[in-house]
Amino acid sequence: MSERELVCVVCPNGCSIHVDYEDGNPPRIVRAEGARCPRGKAWVQQEMEDPRRTFSTSVLVPGGDFLEASVRLTKPVPLSKVFDVMEEIKKVKLKPPLEIGDVILTNPAGTETEVVITRNVIARRTS
Ligand code: SF4
Repeated sequence: MSERELVCVVCPNGCSIHVDYEDGNPPRIVRAEGARCPRGKAWVQQEMEDPRRTFSTSVLVPGGDFLEASVRLTKPVPLSKVFDVMEEIKKVKLKPPLEIGDVILTNPAGTETEVVITRNVIARRTS
């Protein structure tokens, strides 16, 4: 039997959850204690069996009034794919104008997410 201490990230309460489990692929959860609500139990199941993450970063926009535009994922991706997704995003260079919500990548690294712009960028004035 193995054990882990997890901190639920579903809401700001951040419950500490103690998990006893049997190793395997996926591991078999024997007991999980500390979650104050059912959403925490569901999150533990997901975290133990198929951990996923989402993140924000930025992409280059040569010629924009800002040289970088912030972007985010629309869905969490498998933890094992985070680095690959980041590498694909790093290769992107965009041209202005860009609007919040513009999709700049679909299914990066074979995942089911899109990458969208979270900041408007217009062309830099040349005077
Ligand atoms: S277990 Fe429930 S109350 Fe606790 S952090 Fe997770 S979602 Fe919030």
